[in-house]
Amino acid sequence: MTKIKESIRYSDQRQIITPDDPVIPFIEGDGTGPDIWCAARIVLDAAVEKAYSGQKNIQWTEVLAGEKAFKQTGNWLPDDTLETIKTFRVAIKGPLTTPVGKGIRSINVALRQELDLYTCMRPVQYITGVPSPMQRPEDVDMIVFRENTEDVYMGLEWESGSAMATRIIEMVNTLGGRQIRAEAGIGIKPISPFGSRRLVKRAIEYALEHDKQSVTLVHKGNIMKFTEGAFRNWGYELAKEEFGDVTITEEALWKQYDGKAPEGKVIIKDRIADAMFQQILLRPAEYDVLATPNLNGDYLSDALAATVGGLGMAPGANIGDGYAVFEATHGTAPKYAGQDKVNPGSLILSGAMMLDYLGWQEAAELVRQSLVKTVEQKTVTYDLARQMEEATQVKCSEFAYAIAGNM
Ligand code: NAP
Repeated sequence: MTKIKESIRYSDQRQIITPDDPVIPFIEGDGTGPDIWCAARIVLDAAVEKAYSGQKNIQWTEVLAGEKAFKQTGNWLPDDTLETIKTFRVAIKGPLTTPVGKGIRSINVALRQELDLYTCMRPVQYITGVPSPMQRPEDVDMIVFRENTEDVYMGLEWESGSAMATRIIEMVNTLGGRQIRAEAGIGIKPISPFGSRRLVKRAIEYALEHDKQSVTLVHKGNIMKFTEGAFRNWGYELAKEEFGDVTITEEALWKQYDGKAPEGKVIIKDRIADAMFQQILLRPAEYDVLATPNLNGDYLSDALAATVGGLGMAPGANIGDGYAVFEATHGTAPKYAGQDKVNPGSLILSGAMMLDYLGWQEAAELVRQSLVKTVEQKTVTYDLARQMEEATQVKCSEFAYAIAGNM
């Protein structure tokens, strides 16, 4: 008898309801995507089997996007892919190629916008034994909450000399009394109170649930006052209106409590983005949850990943209301495609975030613990091996089997 495919559901209170054998769509990804996806699947299946002895299992189903989709269907992001993810609600993906300065717009961005995956969560934590450029990498324990649907990332751009660019320039020069050069390319940076507030709300909720000390709003509001500056202001407003009894601003902390946070209160502070890049290197212990507009969050999360050993180990999740897509932070690393070489750690740890999201914490913990153990044993892929002494360099797939073997 054919088994009925079960999908993940949400209760009226937006709590996730996960069946024992949920269908989870996956996108392999371009470049090194198939290598890391194959490795991640080995580890995730092993963890679920080990944790639940066959009582639970994931029914993976492939959906197409990127180069593979284009070759098979002539479409980079087929409607069927979006519909399947909407049906089954939670998906995982490898990286997808986006050409620079020409060609198609980002499929990653399209997915985030189509499914309104407005929060991009990127935790960054040091794993013992991983080579790091920091003197005290163990001080790095942060999570970036990056707004995922607005900002210059929306792709509202018009080429130099195009009719739209010319009209906008004329309008700004005439109505706004400014002087944009006639041949400029034009980009628009929308940041709204709605988009900013719902993102900051997620960040504060996370800080409260996970006992974190502070939420830092990272912006370039001194220069971009009505977009990034407004993001900061709306963030403070939201904190006061919805979490007034459990949060305190940094300003009030110093004025009223001599800098010592009262029990049970999350500190809300803000930093200008350029200064924040210094702070993550010089004083990482002072930060734990960062809430940022889209572009800042993109830059910051790659820089943070470098502080704990690089992009190969940096996981990510894109979460909306009712849909979630988990993905590696890095790109397709095309020069290593098909070599079974790169570090699948990022996608494996994204898979652990997915298991957490499903409520399968036992399996998630198994993934994390055995990955840490494998790195501690110095069984690592090329990126870590080239910086570690006496490491055993293994292929992408061998790293996955070593992790599974350590469960
Ligand atoms: P990238 O693919 O992230 O690779 C840059 C470098 O990072 C690699 O050359 C490699 O460094 C290191 N790296 C990346 N992934 C690694 C892994 N799994 N293990 C070990 N090292 C890894 O960045 P890119 O070359 O700028 O971008 C390539 C394509 O990916 C572009 O089309 C871009 O648009 C796309 N992209 C997609 C996503 C996504 O799908 N979410 C995100 C970012 C970029 P070494 O050379 O030092 O070994």
